[in-house]
Amino acid sequence: MAKTLIYKFGGASVKDSNAIKNLTEILRNRLRSRQVIVVSAMGKTTNGLESILSKKLAGEYFSENSSILKAYHLEICQKLFPEGHSVFAMLENLFLQLSNQLEQKLTRENYDEFYDSIVGFGELISSRIVAEYLCAQGLIVLWQDARDVIHTNSDFRFAKIDWEKTRKSCQSNWKPVLENFPILTQGFIGSDPKGRPTTLGREGSDFTAAILGTGLGAASVTIWKDVPGVLNADPKIFPNTKKFDELGYREAAEMTYFGASVIHPKTIKPLANAGIPLFVKSFLDPESTGTKIHENAAAHEVPTIVLKKDQILVSFKVTDFTFIEEMHIHRVYEQLQALKLRVNMLQLSAISISIVIDAQLFKLEQLLDSLKSEFEIRYNDGLELLTILQAKQDEIPALLEGYEVLLEQASRNTFQVVRRKV
Ligand code: ASP
Ligand code: MG
Repeated sequence: MAKTLIYKFGGASVKDSNAIKNLTEILRNRLRSRQVIVVSAMGKTTNGLESILSKKLAGEYFSENSSILKAYHLEICQKLFPEGHSVFAMLENLFLQLSNQLEQKLTRENYDEFYDSIVGFGELISSRIVAEYLCAQGLIVLWQDARDVIHTNSDFRFAKIDWEKTRKSCQSNWKPVLENFPILTQGFIGSDPKGRPTTLGREGSDFTAAILGTGLGAASVTIWKDVPGVLNADPKIFPNTKKFDELGYREAAEMTYFGASVIHPKTIKPLANAGIPLFVKSFLDPESTGTKIHENAAAHEVPTIVLKKDQILVSFKVTDFTFIEEMHIHRVYEQLQALKLRVNMLQLSAISISIVIDAQLFKLEQLLDSLKSEFEIRYNDGLELLTILQAKQDEIPALLEGYEVLLEQASRNTFQVVRRKV
């Protein structure tokens, strides 16, 4: 019996009516039963929803932002569907639900839970539109709510998967359906044990594809992107990039860990554990081969360059004349964990601990508040973390031209600097 295929289409591949038509053409020869199509919110919808939330939190007027978001989706539908099509009522309904939800009370304390009840609308809306359009084009798909099978804990905004429960739901709820129909569903969203909506972290739709892949024992997962495959650097930032035809799971995981945005960092591990290959392919050139990420990829020596923006360097200095001890590191990490902040780079000196973290709303001030009585703390924001894997020494200076280096670290395989423009 043929195994299931998982396809994931991100925001850029559904960003306007032409993109959705393109997606439809990709599926026209490829759609079959035992296939799950995962879609993200359209274009920059999630960002739009996030700005509504920050306006609401600040007590500012946000109805204009909501109207823009609605008009954006409406325009796409007007280009795809005849007047009077049921999709318009569906859209109306979803935006009504969204605005009702936005009436609820939002505080700093319930921010994360509130966030999850709002941002998932991007995916709910896009998946409805895409499913309706595919069906109208004769490509029959069954719309399913991902929250029925993606079970998580209640860590809102960064929910952790309950793998066993998720696998069971995939097998009992979706597997039988897939015998007859392909399923179209949402990335990014799940539900907690109380049935409340959760999200898996920004750009989490890739991860959803991997979760469903393992839950359904898929033959492969394919992520359709606006790049030809996995490149050795972001072509929007660096010239002369090279595409990898294949990569090992470990290498791909490492790239994403350091911030390569081509695939969500959590995507690789579950697929590697289950031995499911991951394809990254271009939705602009669907016939081209893309990149295959799998167990037995051949070794290569191409340096990979990864740039992470919006970084903050925080230094914690001991205040009495002692030196750094395990206890100090423990205290800092304890707070980082409580705030769900990940350290992108760590450096210790005799009297200070330096960490590099992503800029995140409120998090820095909370971190400073919690530790200011124990350390003298300084920070620099607006920085970039540049990581080079398989670095070639002679190529490094060119990458730092025009930048001031605040922190540098080198190991046999990896070279990292924290830099800012001068
Ligand atoms: N729409 C969500 C985001 O933009 C999830 C995704 O695109 O993967 O973060
Ligand atoms: Mg997105």
